[in-house]
Amino acid sequence: MYVCLVCNGMEVIKRNCTHCDNKMVDEGRVINQFDDYAPYMDDETTKLVDGDIYSKHKHLCLHLLKCSTCDYYLQAAVEEKYIT
Ligand SMILES: [Zn+2]
Ligand SMILES: [Zn+2]
Repeated sequence: MYVCLVCNGMEVIKRNCTHCDNKMVDEGRVINQFDDYAPYMDDETTKLVDGDIYSKHKHLCLHLLKCSTCDYYLQAAVEEKYIT
């Protein structure tokens, strides 16, 4: 199955703020910001709820990054890896 290494804590997104160039913090999957129950669903279901057919097809996991300095938000698409 496809898993997001960032969601599973195996990888960390390293991205600098496009405004102030300070380190950005991963706030988790974008869908988790809107639905507290989302983490308990399996990945395929979450993507359907998400309504983002493109991300489901490409196996991308959308993460929300926040700059701790200027509060700028950024979405980052993480490519999911196939693990058997
Ligand atoms: Zn993820
Ligand atoms: Zn910033």
